[in-house]
Amino acid sequence: MHEMSIAQSIVDIVREEMARYDVKKLEVINLAVGKMSAVVPQHLSFCFSVLIDKTDLEGTRLNIREVPMNYRCQACGHGFEAEQVALACPACGEEAPRLEHGRELSVESIEVADLDAAPPPAQPAEDLGS
Ligand SMILES: [Zn+2]
Repeated sequence: MHEMSIAQSIVDIVREEMARYDVKKLEVINLAVGKMSAVVPQHLSFCFSVLIDKTDLEGTRLNIREVPMNYRCQACGHGFEAEQVALACPACGEEAPRLEHGRELSVESIEVADLDAAPPPAQPAEDLGS
């Protein structure tokens, strides 16, 4: 399953961060998932909960933020957000606007359960593949 390997990548990244900052317990993992990333948030949450079951990460919540698709027209420079795949610029009608956001899949930050040690956010834009 596609989401399972992504969930595993998330766990790997988070464990690295935990080791680096000597963190024992996490509260929340904040994840950004683009609408074009072909990831189903519910599937990802499920896979994640399966992976962390009976581990030290058990109980950690996965907070998934869906990133809308953002396009920029290459002809007139108009930037716009779209719910669906956009084939043309709504301002000038030029075809094939460039997708600027919506494909990302990254760990934005992790929140530590123990407030004594708050690590800085994970490296943004960590590409997990799609
Ligand atoms: Zn345009």
